[in-house]
This record gives sequence, C-alpha cells and structure tokens, in this order.
Amino acid sequence: MESLNRFAAEKLASLSARALRRELATTDRAALAHVSRDGRHLISFSCNDYLNLSTQLDVVMAAMEATNAHGVGAGGSRAVTGNHPLYTTLESRLAALKHTEACVVFGSGYLANSGIIPALMGERDVIFVDSLSHACMWAGAKLSSATIIIFDHNNMSSLGNLMAQHRHKYWNAMILTETVFSMDGDRAPLPELTKLAKTYDAWTMTDDAHGFGVLPATEAAREIPLQMGTLSKAVGGYGGYLCATADVVALVRNRARSFVYTTGLPPASVAAAIAALDFMTENPEYCALPLAKARRFTAALRLPEAQSPIVPVIIGSAAAAMAASELLAEQGFLVSAIRPPTVQGGTARLRFTFCAAHEDRDIDRLADFVRRNLLVAA
Ligand SMILES: *Cc1c(COP(=O)(O)O)cnc(C)c1O
Repeated sequence: MESLNRFAAEKLASLSARALRRELATTDRAALAHVSRDGRHLISFSCNDYLNLSTQLDVVMAAMEATNAHGVGAGGSRAVTGNHPLYTTLESRLAALKHTEACVVFGSGYLANSGIIPALMGERDVIFVDSLSHACMWAGAKLSSATIIIFDHNNMSSLGNLMAQHRHKYWNAMILTETVFSMDGDRAPLPELTKLAKTYDAWTMTDDAHGFGVLPATEAAREIPLQMGTLSKAVGGYGGYLCATADVVALVRNRARSFVYTTGLPPASVAAAIAALDFMTENPEYCALPLAKARRFTAALRLPEAQSPIVPVIIGSAAAAMAASELLAEQGFLVSAIRPPTVQGGTARLRFTFCAAHEDRDIDRLADFVRRNLLVAA
C-alpha cells in the first residue's frame, strides 16, 4: 500500500511540475451557455453542447417521461434484457439521417470506437490512422491487434504513399479519421480520402462527433461505409452510434465487446436523443448558428475562417495556456486550456467552442479581449 501511494504521489508531482496536472472543477451549467464555477459566474466557450439541447425543455421532458415509463436503468446488456423499446426508434432515426440501412447505439462514443474497430479488424489487418485522431480511436485500434500505421494529419499524399507501401502486406485495411477534428476544428478531405480507400480497398470509418447536427451532411460523407458519432455533443445527451449496412451493424452487435458486455443506456438518454433529433430536423436554421457564431469570432480576430464550431488559439506551453485561461475567467469567460497529452507538446491551446445560445455581443467582447491580450503574446 505504501509503495502504491508513493507511486501515485510521485506521478502527480511530475504532472504538477510540468503544468499538466488536471483538477476537476465543479461546474454547474444549468442555463444555456452560462455556468458557475468556484463561485464565479462565467459564459462558457468550452461546452460541446453546441445546440444547447442538454437543457432544452422538450428534450428534458422526453427524458422525464421515459424515466416514468421505463425506470432509471436498462436493467442489463442490450444483448440480454436491456434493449428497451425506445432503442428501435432511435436507431432507425439515426440510420435515416445518415442515409444508411442500419444503426447500432452504444453507451458512449468512447465505447463505440473501442468496440467497433476490434469487432472488424484483427491481427492480419492494417489500420491507417490520422495522427490527430481521438483517443478512443487509438484505444479501439490497439485493442484490435491490427498493425497501426499513422498518416500525417489530413495529408492525402502521406496516406496514399503509406497505402502504396504497406497495404498489400495485409488482409483487410481500415482508415480512421474524424469529420471535424476535436481540438483543431478543421475537417477531413473526405472526397480524396474516399478515392484512396477505393483504390486500395480500405474501409473508412469517420468519427462525426463534432459535425453531427451542426454541419450539413455532405455527399462525400454518405459514401463512407462506417459512420460513427456520438449523442453527447450537439445531440446534448449521452450515447454513441455506428451507421452502416444491415450486415455490418448485425456483426458489430454480435462482436463488439463494449456493446455486448455493458448495460444498455438508461431509457432517459435514448428518449432525450430522439427528442433532440426531432428538434434538429425541424430547425435547420437554428442548427447553423454555432458555425455562424464561430465565424463571427474568427472574422473579428482575422483568423482563418472557422470550418466548424471549434476554434483553437495555439498558445504554446501548458503553463501559458493555463494562465491565458485564467485571464479569460477573470473577464467572465470559461475557455478551457487544452494541454498534452490531448494535444502535442508545445501546442497547448485555448479551445473555443461556439453554441447557438451565444450572444453576439459576448462573442465580440471575447474577441476584443483575445485580440488585445492573447494574440500578441501567442
Ligand atoms: C467526444 C468525442 C468522442 C467520445 O464521445 P463520448 O460520447 O463523449 O464518449 C469520440 N470521438 C471524438 C472525436 C470526440 O470528440
């Protein structure tokens, strides 16, 4: 026991010395983009609740009604007794939105990625992964025991060269990327990627965690055979999904360990997602607001035009990013510093996310403060 505590204390001291220790701040985010933290009232530019659906009345009511009707828990794995009736509705809605035959919903996006990849790939296979892919894609790739080959971020000649060199040595091949990169806000070049995938017979999986609901679905996205995403960002609640053909979905339901060996989502989460999808479908103009707000911010700062609701401002060292975040908090803005290992060393950053509920005047005041105090220092 003593050696365990010593181990933990030494690791923590090392993280603290490099400004990499993370502390959980209690954050009460009851009202739209407003939060309170440590007795401070802040406007959050750090939430992924892009459409503010986590507190939207119809969504909340749907969750409450489902709890009344079905209870707070699923009572078991979906493979046993946890497959309550709301799942079928949610899965067919998602499949229709993504123009695929079928869909399977998981407990979370992390569980989806860590289950789907090993369900499809094994020792004799190869996975080409964009260098900036999310931690849970790496987790799934590692669990699969396939060979992992990293290509330069969004660089199709890097991917093409690596596939030309290595594809033939393996049985099946997969390409992993994100539609919108979570810490950079840029988008993958899906048409070029799809062309390469066809040339080398590779299965592409896109993670649409930050695109779903806030960016219009493109033609190129529809051609992706494995469309994964989460219900915990723009959809406002919790859960992950894969949209694919009926056979692929059936296979994943049989083989993904993070599907079979875990309890189904609470009925409230499933019902909330259905209500959120209803709202999104009925309000396309509202869904365009987060991107428009991000573009208002990048225009004010003369940064490259935002491609998504996520705008990074690279600061450099972890300590400087933490200091910048604190400076913004003193002005009433919650903007989290993102540090290694989430991003590469030396690229610690402020990650601004924009949501439908942000007021233009708050965005302008934020941009003004960033321009005068942070861009010069960066
Ligand atoms: C947030 C995120 C996930 C994880 O989704 P959860 O539902 O929060 O587990 C997966 N991939 C990407 C790119 C994400 O940003």
